[in-house]
Parts: sequence; structure tokens; C-alpha cells
Amino acid sequence: MSARTVRESERKIEVLDEMDVVVAGAGVSGCAAAASAARAGAKTILLERNGCLGGVATATLMANIGNRFLTGSGRQVIHGFGGELVERLVAQGAASPHWKSRDLPGVVIDSEKLKVVLIDVMYEAGVTVLTHALATQPIVNGDGVTGVFLESRSGRQALLARAVVDATGEADLAFRAGSTIKEQSVKGSASILFKLARVDLDRFVDFVLEDPEGFPAGVDWVKDAETFGRNWRERGVLFFPHVSGRHWRFMIEAVAQGKLEREIGPAGSLDAVGMYALRGRDCIVINSNFYRVQDLDVRTLSVSELHAQKMCYYVADFFIRHVPGFERAYVAHVGVDLGIRTSRQIAGRVTLSREMLRDAPAPTRFDDVIGVTPVQDTKRESGEFFKEFTTDIPFGALVPCGGPANLVNASAKSIDTEPRGLIRGMSGCMICGQAAGVAAALAAKRGVAVADVPTRDLQRALLRQHVNLGDASRIKALGLL
Ligand SMILES: Cc1cc2nc3c(=O)[nH]c(=O)nc-3n(C[C@H](O)[C@H](O)[C@H](O)COP(=O)(O)OP(=O)(O)OC[C@H]3O[C@@H](n4cnc5c(N)ncnc54)[C@H](O)[C@@H]3O)c2cc1C
Repeated sequence: MSARTVRESERKIEVLDEMDVVVAGAGVSGCAAAASAARAGAKTILLERNGCLGGVATATLMANIGNRFLTGSGRQVIHGFGGELVERLVAQGAASPHWKSRDLPGVVIDSEKLKVVLIDVMYEAGVTVLTHALATQPIVNGDGVTGVFLESRSGRQALLARAVVDATGEADLAFRAGSTIKEQSVKGSASILFKLARVDLDRFVDFVLEDPEGFPAGVDWVKDAETFGRNWRERGVLFFPHVSGRHWRFMIEAVAQGKLEREIGPAGSLDAVGMYALRGRDCIVINSNFYRVQDLDVRTLSVSELHAQKMCYYVADFFIRHVPGFERAYVAHVGVDLGIRTSRQIAGRVTLSREMLRDAPAPTRFDDVIGVTPVQDTKRESGEFFKEFTTDIPFGALVPCGGPANLVNASAKSIDTEPRGLIRGMSGCMICGQAAGVAAALAAKRGVAVADVPTRDLQRALLRQHVNLGDASRIKALGLL
């Protein structure tokens, strides 16, 4: 931070519109929030600083929704907006219809198609969407927030709203509104993904299967080479686990032979490749560069973002020159946004902790449950395993302490978890986004702060939107039947 300052002169700002709910940020969290708020009857506007919807899932090119939808036996426990989105992608040929398998740790998607599916969802729900519209500052009045200022090609304007949903991913609005932020330091990792086209995917899969012992089994989390091959042959999904290049014999040898550098400048883990593809296309999305993000300073972020775009070409060149199946490939697309895995996190009314979600002996129940997520079983040798039971996600983790009571956080990246980002995968983001949107809509309708929306009313509204809050006995115990 520079010590020098200048004073911005006071000026009158045009009010663009008056809404029930304003949602800032159109990643999967913000889209879930906006559609759900509108479906709950709120006049809703969604602001996005980019020119497309989807956030990390599209602008960073993250083509894999972690498959937390299923328990260990493959029972689907996440429905609501997330379940609907996956089914809409399947219907558009943008995800495999065979995604409901525990052998598939991720629902691989066509990120380009996701952009247009989200447009359809927003418009069908009646959401007004503004692109290239940056929410700069919440309008704070006493203990409440009465809207946001935004900057766009129309200049600086104000949007008045009864409730504000922060879906910026980095809790930007909560931070600026004075909500309590757990740690100011960010200490996250960040990456940009890229897409190679004209890849012979069958040839590549065969090549990987030529050395089954060298397959990175159990790393984030395909069981073994056989499962990898079966996912491709039977499910039409190429899921080469995230980070696992570093454990793949071929890549380890290539690094040892000097064919690929592991680090260049600020980029690390260039060998930590993850790859995602769908049958019927000749494209593959590669995730392979890691940047340490210490803070959200625009200068360091810009250096990393531009460096990452160049590194995508460096890694692409390695594949084209050395990996069978990639001989004729070319870079078709590089993500435009450096995706930050974890960063700013609010201090919520409730904290969700690792012990509740990993290897927990029993489910954790919260009275203010707004969704459930399967408990991970990490004690098994290889592959991603889940127990049969789920743990509750509490609404309190989305509600910031301090700051205005009618601002709520929608992104699972920045809700209150210990450690941070515990349920930051897209399925967790969509659960939190949906609850934040519905809560904001109820708050606007009743003229109360989001933090004061009666829990049972919120839960009833979520049930109406097909969110899973638990089995029939649990719903009864909550008094919701
Ligand atoms: C590199 C990487 C790899 C990942 N891998 C996986 C994976 O394999 N599987 C998985 O399930 N999850 C993965 N995740 C996590 C998951 O993708 C993200 O946590 C999730 O997509 C975040 O969604 P979001 O909507 O909360 O935030 P974002 O996607 O960050 O969306 C925030 C949106 O808000 C916009 N915005 C920000 N500030 C403003 C503002 N002031 N005004 C207006 N708009 C604004 C941004 O442009 C963006 O569109 C990964 C994340 C990263 C970064």
C-alpha cells in the first residue's frame, strides 16, 4: 500500500435501478444465487465484471465440477441448483450422461457451453444481467447496506437494493462493507488453464495405459489406470487427475531429462498436470501452472496473470513435442482470468471445520442446515472415497459478523471454514450460492436483514427449490414436514 493519498471529490451518482436483490459476481456461486433469488420472487440483478458468466468455470477454463454430488455408494445427495445445472449440461451434450459414478471424481464439462447454459438459466429465471459491470463499493447506511456502486461503460452508477449478495469469490464487498475478515493475508494458489485442440485422445489414452504401473493412482483421485481407461471407453470422459502429472512416471522422467522445467519465474508445478476432455471433441483442457498469491495487490496479480498465459504455451509445447496423441495439437484457448483457489474469508456466525468433513465418525448436524455434502474417507489406499453419510452446511457460515446485516456471502471459497476453502469446489459453491440468493429474496420481501431471516422459512423455501437438507426423518426433526 502506498502512503500517498488523494481526496476523491464528492459527487452525485445516478441511480440506475431499484431492486430487491443485487448479486455481485457471476461465477457459479453468483449464478446460483441470482437464479434462486429470482425464482423465490425477488426482482434480481446480477453484476459481472467480465463479459461472460461462469467465473473460474469459464474465464479460467476450469472444466471439472468436483463430483461431491454422490456418496460412497453413488447415491446423489446434492440436488438443487447444482444438480439442475449438471443435468442441463448433460442435455446439451456438454457433460457425460454417465457422470453418476464414484469412479469419476469429476463431472467434466464443456466450459464454453456452460456460458450459454447459464445465460439461459438467468433469463428463464427473470434475472437482469449486466456484464462488464464492476460492483465497486457497497452503499452502507448505518447498520445496513442499501445497494452497491458500480462502474461500467455507462460510468459510475448506483443500484439500490434491499439485500446484497457478495459472490465476488474474494469477499470483496463484505471486506469493503466492514464485515469481519478472518485473515487479511491471502496465501492462496492460483492458475490459468488452457485448451489444446486437434488432439488424438484415443491415442493419448492408449499411451497412458501402456504403462499402468506408472499411472498416478490415487492422486486426486482416480483409483488406477484401469479405471482411467474405463472412464474414457465407457463414460466418454477423460479424467486425468489434477496435480498428478507430478506422480506420473512419464512426466517424472521427462522432467529428469530436462524436457520440461518444473518452475519458471513465478510459475511453479508446471509438471503438476491435470487434464479433462469429453468424447466427441478433439480438445483437452490442461491445468498445470501454480502461482503463490500472497495478497490481492493488483500489481502482483497482474504479473502472475500475464505470466500464466505465457506458461500455458510453454506447457502446450511440451505436450506437442513429447506426448503421443498431441503431435498435431495447437492452443485453441487460454483462460482470461487467473483463478485464485482460496483467498479472503469472512468470519461467519458459524465455522465449518475439516473434522466435520474428512474422516468424521458421524454426521455433523446444524440447525440452520442449507445443504449437505458427503463426508470424505481419506484412509483408503487410492481413489476418492466417501462415506455413506453427509454433513450439514450451516447458513451461519455465509453470514458475516460485523458489517451490515443484509449482506450475505454466496461463494463457498470465502465462507467461514477451517481451513479456508474447505468446500470451495463448485458443488459447494452452488449450495452456498442458492442459499444466499433465497435468503436475500426472503429478506427483501419481508423487509428484514438477511441475517435475520427465520431459519425454518429459509429451509422451506430451499426445499421448494429441491435442495436436499437430509432424509425424511431429518426434515421431520427440523419441523419442516
Ligand atoms: C485453478 C482452479 C482450479 C480448480 N479446480 C476445481 C475442480 O477441479 N473442481 C471443482 O469443483 N472446483 C475447482 N476449483 C474451485 C472452483 O472452481 C471455484 O471455487 C468456484 O468456481 C468459485 O466460484 P465462485 O462463483 O464462488 O467464484 P468465481 O468463479 O471466482 O466467480 C466470481 C465472479 O465474480 C466476478 N467478480 C469479482 N469481483 C466482482 C465485482 N466487484 N463486481 C462484479 N463482478 C465481480 C468475477 O469476474 C467472477 O466471474 C478450482 C479453482 C481454481 C481457481
